Amino acid sequence: MPSDRAAKIGIIGAGSVGATIAYAAMMRGVARQIALFDIASAKVRAEVLDLNHGMLFAPPGALEGSDDIEVLRGCDVIVMTAGAKQKPGETRMDLAAANARICASLLPKVVVVAPNAHLLLVTNPVDVITQIAIKLTGLPWNRVFGSGTVLDSSRFRFLIARHCSVAVQNVHAYIAGEHGDSEIPLWSSATIGSIPLSQWAVEGHGRLTSVDKDAILHDVKDAAYQVIQGKGATNYAIGLAVTNILEALVHDEHRVLPLSGMLRGFHGLDDVCLSLPRIVGRRGIEPPLPIPMTVDEEAGLQASATRIREVVQGLGY
Ligand code: NAD
Repeated sequence: MPSDRAAKIGIIGAGSVGATIAYAAMMRGVARQIALFDIASAKVRAEVLDLNHGMLFAPPGALEGSDDIEVLRGCDVIVMTAGAKQKPGETRMDLAAANARICASLLPKVVVVAPNAHLLLVTNPVDVITQIAIKLTGLPWNRVFGSGTVLDSSRFRFLIARHCSVAVQNVHAYIAGEHGDSEIPLWSSATIGSIPLSQWAVEGHGRLTSVDKDAILHDVKDAAYQVIQGKGATNYAIGLAVTNILEALVHDEHRVLPLSGMLRGFHGLDDVCLSLPRIVGRRGIEPPLPIPMTVDEEAGLQASATRIREVVQGLGY
C-alpha cells in the first residue's frame, strides 16, 4: 500500500452505499484516486459525473467510474458494496444466497485486476460475505475483512453519549459478533472518559439503568430497520464509517476498530468471521484484541459465531 494520498481506492457498486462512500472519501481526501465499478452503466456514469462536478470543492483528487472491471486495475483497497439490500421486514441473513452468488462471479475477477488490494466487504450479511470472500479469493486473512460492527458501535456510542449528555468521542464501547440480529453489546468494557459505564454517576449526566441499557440495545439493533422503513436504504453513517476504515488503512493509523475478520483460536472460536476490536493499519487487520468479557458476553459471542457458521455452511462454503 503506497503512503497516504497516493493510494487508489476502488468501490464495487454505485448504489446508495457505494456512491455515499465515494462522496465521503472524496470530501475527506482519503486517496488520490477513487474508481467506481457497477454493472448498471447509466447509474455509475451519472454518479461519477455528479461527484466530479463537485471536485472543485473537495481536496484534489481524481474520480472515475465504469461498467468495465478494468477501472479497478491497480487498486490498493477495494470496497465491495454490490448486491441485494434489505427490503422492509427482511433480515440481513435473508440476502445471503443472492449476495454470495454475486461474490462468486465477481471476486475472482477482482483479484486478477487488483492482486495486491485489501478487500473491504460491506455487502450484507457482511460476516458471511467476508468468510466466503476469503475462500473465493485465497487472499491472506489480514487482507480480507468486513466493515462488521463499526457502524453498530457508532450507533451504540451515539445513543450512550446522548443519554449521558457527553461527546460521542468520549464514549468507548463496542458491539461485537454478527453485524445483525445476534450482535452483542460489550457493556462490561464500556467507558466514558475512562470511567467504567457501570460506575457512571455524574450529576446532570444521568445514569444507565438496566431499562436504559435494554432500550439502547433495542435501538442499536433496530436502527437499520427504522432507517430502511423510512427511506429505503442506510447510506450516510455507513459512508462515514467506511471512510473512517479507509483512513485507518491508507494512513496506517493503527486505529482500533471492530472489523469482521477470520478468527483463529480466539476464546475457542476458529474458522468463523465476526467482529471484535482489532488494530487496523497499512497491512490490514491484526488478530482481535484480548478485550475482557463477562460470561454472558462470551456466551453471546459463541451464539453469534454459531449463527454465522450455519449460514456459511448452508451456502456450501
Ligand atoms: P443498492 O441497490 O442501492 O446498490 C447496489 C448496487 O450494486 C446497484 O447499483 C447494482 O447495480 C450493483 N450491483 C449488483 N450486482 C452487481 C455486480 N455483479 N457487479 C457490480 N455491481 C453490481 O444497495 P445499497 O443500499 O447500496 O446496499 C448495498 C449493500 O450494502 C447491501 O447488501 C446492503 O445490505 C449493504 N449494507 C451494508 C451495511 C453494513 O454496515 N455492512 C450498511 C448498509 C448497507
